Amino acid sequence: MFKAYKFRLYPDEEQQLLLEKHFGSCRFVWNHFLDSSNKRYVETGKGMSYKDASVLLPALKEEREWLNEVNSQSLQQELMHLDSAFHGFFRKISGYPAFRKKRNGGSFTVPQHFTIKDNHLTIPKFKTPLRLFMHRNIEGEMRSLTISKTPSGKYYASILAETGKKIPGPVRIEACTSIGIDVGIKVFLTTSDGLQIDNPKNLKKSEKKLALLQKRLSRKQKGSKNMNKARIKVATAQEHIANQRMDFHNKVSDAMLRAYDTVITEDLNVSGMMKNHHLARSIADAGWSSFMAMLKTKALQRGKSIIDIGRFDPSSRMCSHCGYTYNLKLSERKWICPQCNTAHDREWNAAKNIKQFGLIKTGIPTDSGELTPVDRSMDTLIFLAREGIGQVHWLKQEAHAL
Ligand SMILES: [Zn+2]
Repeated sequence: MFKAYKFRLYPDEEQQLLLEKHFGSCRFVWNHFLDSSNKRYVETGKGMSYKDASVLLPALKEEREWLNEVNSQSLQQELMHLDSAFHGFFRKISGYPAFRKKRNGGSFTVPQHFTIKDNHLTIPKFKTPLRLFMHRNIEGEMRSLTISKTPSGKYYASILAETGKKIPGPVRIEACTSIGIDVGIKVFLTTSDGLQIDNPKNLKKSEKKLALLQKRLSRKQKGSKNMNKARIKVATAQEHIANQRMDFHNKVSDAMLRAYDTVITEDLNVSGMMKNHHLARSIADAGWSSFMAMLKTKALQRGKSIIDIGRFDPSSRMCSHCGYTYNLKLSERKWICPQCNTAHDREWNAAKNIKQFGLIKTGIPTDSGELTPVDRSMDTLIFLAREGIGQVHWLKQEAHAL
């Protein structure tokens, strides 16, 4: 099983210069072969393979001597990254590979010959080890290292280690240990048990601040010193938001996988929804797809299951109690089923349907009714509160209070 680690790097001035050379050379190789591949595609209808590019790399290094100042394995790795970027594009996993820009920071991979000792990282081509802050120990054997620089100028070392542990086999899927989740715009996530988790307040605050900084940046004169300062401020705020969001996603996904063995979700077709301009920003902010990706990765590592029911349009419109399909408007948050008189909360009802459909799809008896023990939701609530996620409501309790 692979585990990823990320540590902050503190290079001295001389090391920073050599790091910049690595970022620049790798960016050059990436852009050069992306351009060649595009051109070849126009001419022949076929792009460039990893093999094609590898054959051409030595000639490029002769032509541009400065490429020899950096670790040649890192340049070679860039061709592999480009190749997998094209594979991702053709398998519709990611967008078309883009040209890299200096202002977006940089990165390069060190596939081998690196060591870490006493908070110092030794890599090829660097005479002195780079100082890094290890906030935790690496478990297992280190396999690959990527050094990166953020747009605001922070350096990081990301390490992939093979732990030697086997991934636990999947647990049996049962109705009582499963949870259905509905992710939305108004509320970040609602469970079939009636827990609602809102986007954290500090995230909303940071987003407001970012909007202000972006406005200021837009007023600066192009190419001026002040513009560069404003750009770094925007980049710092963006990185801060990304960190806050990742922390939030980490805690919520941990909470779900701690209390439940199976999480049932609906494919929301986020990219399709992005076309709707009004929804676009809040969807991007909620970061559903990154949350889902994190949930899936963690579930796999812990032997838990994620069931994706695909796109299921009537999930919010159908009564989870009797199956009646109601003509629900987008503005209606609560509704009463005309057939069985059950009062529904829009998201909670959707989450209940998602759970039922997931179980049916998997061939598990749904035994509709209150099969998930109440203490699982209570546990989740307590766990999230302890982790500092305060924006959680429990609809079940609110319903009882009424
Ligand atoms: Zn009904």
